[in-house]
Amino acid sequence: MPDWESLYATRMAGVVASDIRERMKLLDARQIIHLGGGLPDPDIFPYEALQQASDRIWGDRALARTALQYAPSEGHAPLRQWIADDASAAGVSCGIDNVVITNGSQQGLDFIAKLLLSPGDTAMVEIPSFIGALRAFDAYQPRYLGLPEDSAEWDAGALAGAKFCYVGPDFRNPTGTTMSLADREKLLDLADATGMILVEDGCYEQLRYEGEPIPSLLTLAMHRYGDIEKVPVLHTGTFSKTIAPSLRIGWITGPRDAIRKLVLIKQASDLATSALNQMLLLEVIRMSLHTAIETGCQVYRERLHRMLAALDQHMPEGVTWTRPEGGLYVWGSLPEGVDAGRFAERALMEHKVSIISGAAFYPAKAENVRPATNRFRLSFSMIPSEAATEGVRRLGLLAREMVPILV
Ligand code: PMP
Repeated sequence: MPDWESLYATRMAGVVASDIRERMKLLDARQIIHLGGGLPDPDIFPYEALQQASDRIWGDRALARTALQYAPSEGHAPLRQWIADDASAAGVSCGIDNVVITNGSQQGLDFIAKLLLSPGDTAMVEIPSFIGALRAFDAYQPRYLGLPEDSAEWDAGALAGAKFCYVGPDFRNPTGTTMSLADREKLLDLADATGMILVEDGCYEQLRYEGEPIPSLLTLAMHRYGDIEKVPVLHTGTFSKTIAPSLRIGWITGPRDAIRKLVLIKQASDLATSALNQMLLLEVIRMSLHTAIETGCQVYRERLHRMLAALDQHMPEGVTWTRPEGGLYVWGSLPEGVDAGRFAERALMEHKVSIISGAAFYPAKAENVRPATNRFRLSFSMIPSEAATEGVRRLGLLAREMVPILV
């Protein structure tokens, strides 16, 4: 038998399975109230529109032939054009060569790291950050630098040397919070002063439930530099949260030269994203993207409000949480010194409620970051509000038990 351990590449050293996921396999999933994962609600997927799109493709032999053939590596041209037109309408004047289609935005994040990071290079990430991005970046063996949560600490001298900075300005995963306009401008100043690229994750940007939209970093950079070829931004987008994640359609928008290199990476990685899925998706967004976004916002807004009300009602003094204006997550904080890992473990084993302990959202060994051990993420997207409220009630009971230990 081969000695697998000695054969694995060094990049696999930091890859570990989640303890809690392993333990969850031992429990009956049907009894658990899932406040952990941020999956979109399958009840609101656009089934009828997909059926119509599918009928149209299979009913037309020319379309069907294209759908079953390899797509171009850069993506199905009419879909790229749709994305470029949509961006242009929103103030980011660009063309088809500024867009590459990826297998979900997760693949976009992986490819951007592959494009920019040699082992030992510095990747700056916002603190805390989306786990999937961190795991994708880990494989390229970077040094991590944290972008401090407080923008008063964004000092170009202290934060120089990174190849890129990864941020999710709207309703970010995991905190649900949104970067202010002033901070977006300040981040562009920082990019300008340090020469780094901003990797803007637009995963939740269409899921705003209240408040006024704030222009993306890409849009603000366009205002500054006047030309997409000059912007220091790569923007990732996705239809996973507005249409359906299984189609695996995301994209990257940015300067043409970088996009051309990303297409070469795409070619070497998986040749192309499914033509069938891209064509289905294009039909669906032409028919009903607007309605799909409206439905999603309506359902998730109600669930967010119900979850915040449940937290207000059931959490003891000392526990705090964010009040997002969109997205799928609420970020909780236990009092300093109360361990959120233990909280998540006891929530699952004793109360059958799954949540995610915040430590997972911090990069391993970032030079300027000490992971917070008292934070946790809740998601309200996938389960009805009654069950979520019951889950929060149980978390409140547990918090009452754990919090007084301190006082
Ligand atoms: N970015 C963020 C912030 C996410 O939360 C996710 C998935 N939940 C992704 C990117 C990846 O999504 P997808 O690959 O489905 O586009």
